[in-house]
Amino acid sequence: MGQRLQDFNSILNELHVLPSEIYEYVTRGILGFAGAVFLLLLFIDAPYGRHLRSGWGPSVPSKLGWVLMELPSPIFMALAYGFGENAKQILPLFFLVLFQLHYVHRAVIYPLLARGTGRRMALFTVVAAFIFNSLNGAMCGWAVSQVGSYPVSWLADPRFLVGVGLFVLGAWVNLSADATLRGLRKPGDTGYHIPQGGLYRFVSSPNYLGEIVEWFGFALATWSMAGLAFAVFTLANLAPRARANHRWYKEQFPDYPEDRRVLFPLLY
Ligand code: NDP
Repeated sequence: MGQRLQDFNSILNELHVLPSEIYEYVTRGILGFAGAVFLLLLFIDAPYGRHLRSGWGPSVPSKLGWVLMELPSPIFMALAYGFGENAKQILPLFFLVLFQLHYVHRAVIYPLLARGTGRRMALFTVVAAFIFNSLNGAMCGWAVSQVGSYPVSWLADPRFLVGVGLFVLGAWVNLSADATLRGLRKPGDTGYHIPQGGLYRFVSSPNYLGEIVEWFGFALATWSMAGLAFAVFTLANLAPRARANHRWYKEQFPDYPEDRRVLFPLLY
């Protein structure tokens, strides 16, 4: 591990860049990108799922698209993690496991379980997400195995305890809300129905709410710029989509529950 880090550092030295500079610029870049994505998505719905439409160039089968765009995240996270000096320490390993559990599910299990054969996704979406996930995964890996310092006492730090609690809660909300959506389609059905029960009583996209809570939990538990940048990006990406989904439900279903909010129960 140490030798690989030295080799990596000597390549960067020749290029006159420091890993710490790359980390700082890329995480700041992700934060800036989040702002741009938020503004853009207020006017344009990302072309996949119910919002897929013509005019976005070639498309790929949806399940394949999910695997291709999400898989770079766990791969680049693990690669960057492996270069870090603290890669064998218990807390960085714990953060590695949290991240990988989420992404192995998202990149492999989630697409396999998804209902609705024949769906497609714009290749543009896949390529954009592939690039983002590669960079973001690498920054999160580097953050926990090199940049952050996590002595064993971090296990009792309120930021760690609340952050891990939020991560687990968010993952549970996300997984159960996605499972409710899956249950709406019988085999062979590709249509849309009004989801009921659980947090769907309060908001149209509880799966997104869970995802947002999960990554803010990760940011808090790791107390890292990369974690924060990813959490802010997730919010910036999913809040406009939740708004678009909510509007879409209301247009499609005249009997859509009036009091259901967009993303945050009672608030929005
Ligand atoms: P959606 O809620 O749009 O769709 C999830 C699945 O449920 C899809 O298979 C969709 O089918 C199906 N579905 C949705 N609504 C209905 C309905 N009313 N009736 C029947 N089936 C329905 O979620 P996304 O596809 O946008 O996201 C999937 C997961 O990925 C979520 O858990 C989300 O949190 C996560 N994600 C995370 C991001 C991040 O930035 N971290 C970015 C994007 C997603 P179909 O595909 O046919 O529409």
